[in-house]
Amino acid sequence: MAKSRVALVKVHPQAVASTILNKVRETINLLGGLEDFCRKNNTILLKPNISDTGALYCTNPSVTWAVAKTFSQYGCKVLIGEDPSIHVKEEIAYTEYSMYELAEQAKAKVVSLRHGPHSKVKVPGGGFFSEIELSSFAIEADLVVSLAVMKSANITTVTLGLKNMKGLVKPSWKRKFHSGNLNQGIVDLNKIIKKRLTIIDATFAKDTSARVCYPVGLLMASRDPVAADAVCTRIMGFDPHKIEHIRFAQEAGLGTLDLENIDIVGERIENWTGKFCFSSPKNPFELVKKTRGEIKIIQGNPCSACLNELGESLALCENQLEDFKDLIILVGPEAKPHLSCRNLILFGNCLKKYKDKGIYVAGCPPTEYEPAKTDSLREVLSKILDKRERNRINLAKDS
Ligand code: SF4
Repeated sequence: MAKSRVALVKVHPQAVASTILNKVRETINLLGGLEDFCRKNNTILLKPNISDTGALYCTNPSVTWAVAKTFSQYGCKVLIGEDPSIHVKEEIAYTEYSMYELAEQAKAKVVSLRHGPHSKVKVPGGGFFSEIELSSFAIEADLVVSLAVMKSANITTVTLGLKNMKGLVKPSWKRKFHSGNLNQGIVDLNKIIKKRLTIIDATFAKDTSARVCYPVGLLMASRDPVAADAVCTRIMGFDPHKIEHIRFAQEAGLGTLDLENIDIVGERIENWTGKFCFSSPKNPFELVKKTRGEIKIIQGNPCSACLNELGESLALCENQLEDFKDLIILVGPEAKPHLSCRNLILFGNCLKKYKDKGIYVAGCPPTEYEPAKTDSLREVLSKILDKRERNRINLAKDS
């Protein structure tokens, strides 16, 4: 069986756009050249990751520009689209990213993955979904390029080429991913994408849990999305066998994660592994253990999105968790407020029915941009801590 090929090319993290253009071409040439991926006049959809605000958390705009220019100079029609973070209006995210300028300079066209058009597609042998509604641009394109960033993530450990495809999904369907088996859902989605190229931008890498960016200086690419993610994951210091969506993708036949089945060309992987150690995802249940019962989490079949937010919010006050006293956090549609305590947080829209019993915090993956309706969980936790601090100061004054 032929091995999957992954190209690794070194690039200075702050290289100018013209250098990045040369490096992108070198990367694609190591995979066999553009003619292996497309024909002149083909339609190519580029899907960069601009899901977070802040340039360092997105695919480097110069990489997006360089890939777009490479395909358009070859004679392809290039579309660029993304559905940014649900908290951000698409126009604002595109403008901050300079999407329109870079597309114009590369002779590409910006399209909306959020507003459509969208179409439903059957998932062959779907593990979680039998069908998914996603951007028609992705369905009709001759090639979809996942332009991911080297980035860790709280629920899925990493968000690379495979997970980046989630931006193709119609916003109202994204809730279904987070309400069910996110890892299997990512694999089902990737089964629909017929012809693709994965390019991972690691000029800078993002350690989401630690909230830091590292200058790395690498571009990675492969036609095998599993191999690309597996190689990148190893460089990040994780074992891809332990990352569910990558393992499920291999089991579904989307590619290989085993290094012995991967032909790495360009840079030697040995020169890049062991340099970085990304933080493991924040598990809310592990975090509260050290409070010896002062914080209890009562879960009633919560969705991954709420668990993710819970983990991130608790992680933000990780050093103060032991200052909380008698706090219960309810999460998930089947959780019931049957215990009494000084501070009861009802987290998530599905618990709104109990809102008079404690501090209600709205939260549920929205389908489109919505301003916050209540304080966020982070704000509520910080207010509880502030109140305790004020009480402590007043008690000290009185004594
Ligand atoms: S609010 Fe409830 S239904 Fe909505 S994502 Fe959270 S746990 Fe799921």
